[in-house]
Amino acid sequence: MQIPLEREFMENFEFVTFAGGARLPAFHTCVGANDELLTAEWYKEHGIELILGTRVASADVRRQTLLTSSGETISYKTLIIATGARAMKLEEFRVSGSDAENVCYLRDIKDADKLISIMKSCPDGNAVVIGGGYIGMECTAALVANNIKVTMVFPEKHCMARLFTPKIAEFYENYYMSKGVTFIKGTAVSSLEVSSGKVTTAILRDGRRLPADMVVVGIGARARTELFEGQLVMERGGIKVNGQMQTSDASVYAVGDVAAFPVKLFGGDVRRLEHVDCARRTARHAVAAALNPAAAGDIDYLPFFYSRVFALSWRFYGDNAGEAVHFGDFSSSPPKFGAFWVSAGRVAGAFLEGGSPEEYEAIADAVRRGAAVPDVAELARQGLAFVVREGRSGASRGGGRCCSRGGGGDTPSHAWHTTVGVAAAVSIAVLAYWYGWKAPYLAN
Ligand SMILES: Cc1cc2nc3c(=O)[nH]c(=O)nc-3n(C[C@H](O)[C@H](O)[C@H](O)COP(=O)(O)OP(=O)(O)OC[C@H]3O[C@@H](n4cnc5c(N)ncnc54)[C@H](O)[C@@H]3O)c2cc1C
Repeated sequence: MQIPLEREFMENFEFVTFAGGARLPAFHTCVGANDELLTAEWYKEHGIELILGTRVASADVRRQTLLTSSGETISYKTLIIATGARAMKLEEFRVSGSDAENVCYLRDIKDADKLISIMKSCPDGNAVVIGGGYIGMECTAALVANNIKVTMVFPEKHCMARLFTPKIAEFYENYYMSKGVTFIKGTAVSSLEVSSGKVTTAILRDGRRLPADMVVVGIGARARTELFEGQLVMERGGIKVNGQMQTSDASVYAVGDVAAFPVKLFGGDVRRLEHVDCARRTARHAVAAALNPAAAGDIDYLPFFYSRVFALSWRFYGDNAGEAVHFGDFSSSPPKFGAFWVSAGRVAGAFLEGGSPEEYEAIADAVRRGAAVPDVAELARQGLAFVVREGRSGASRGGGRCCSRGGGGDTPSHAWHTTVGVAAAVSIAVLAYWYGWKAPYLAN
């Protein structure tokens, strides 16, 4: 486990120049109830023993024990698994070179430190970013902000393929291209040429050769389930839990990236969501359920994702299932557009770029309620006004889905504060550098 404390780990990763220290978020990421900072003292004061620099090497669910890398055996009555996910390696796709000096992954603080130091070692250099998802897009924006020329390579037809429609993706790709980014889509890196321990060239499946001073790999993550394989039921690459975040063993709970849980809003479909908001809410729910299962009930979570790159900022709520209905102005400055996903006559998901807090809340609310869409063409015509008006009039309230406690919309306000402790704490380190990373763009 890493220390769940805030630290200035993204130092010198400033926008445009390397001057100055890290910009920490305008709020604290490591907080409990009542805005308490989760310092080492906080854990002590609350009777929580924090064992740092130690891995759990094996787990015996039947005997209810954990064996640490230092040889200590820890017994438990209740276990909460919050082991998160790890970055997938190139080698898993039969490409070698991950251990080259200038190949970067991004999952923990060590990775972030390495990325920064490599970036600093090749000012005005060329980066090849492998992957067109969250990590690829966000790292590219950061690299560009630091004067690195970036070529993004990914096999899909467009960026953020799991979420974006082609039309939404086109907007972001054009924006990135206006910042000098080159996209190479529909192919993949087949090998990396290494000289003196460093990658010099990325070779694509179609034979193209891309000069590289550094390579950033963002090709997905795998849940860290290995301690519990063969002991707990797995699903969707994670540890399967019920609505109380309880695994197939009643004394064991799983939360965050590692947990696959039923999403009420999707009719109980089991999903594994890799997002901070989800980590916090599932952690809070697991603790509530462990303490008082009857009162906690089943988790009722509204999936929520967001990103901020360059001067752009978007949020997505719900599921991108059904027909995508675009709205707004994709060419205005600043841009303001989005999409609703309509399934069985109701809003199942909503995406908005450049919204205000009220507008984001309105689209979240429409998804939460499963706002009725009698006429898709009218929805496209009205766009955001549809949900704002609809929300105010409460037109479909009662007829839509019920999702009262569902998440989403928790911006970096303190509404999500929790005293969950370990489960939430382990998510903090990564979260902290993620916000530290993003802060510079906000200043742009
Ligand atoms: C670069 C990056 C960018 C991201 N961007 C966003 C974003 O834009 N928005 C967003 O909301 N989310 C983002 N995320 C995702 C978010 O960080 C995760 O969803 C969140 O951190 C999950 O929390 P977690 O507690 O489940 O796992 P983690 O935060 O991964 O924590 C897992 C913890 O478990 C520890 N651990 C693992 N195995 C063991 C073991 N055997 N023994 C002891 N300890 C162990 C790890 O060391 C770590 O401390 C991003 C993630 C990354 C990597």
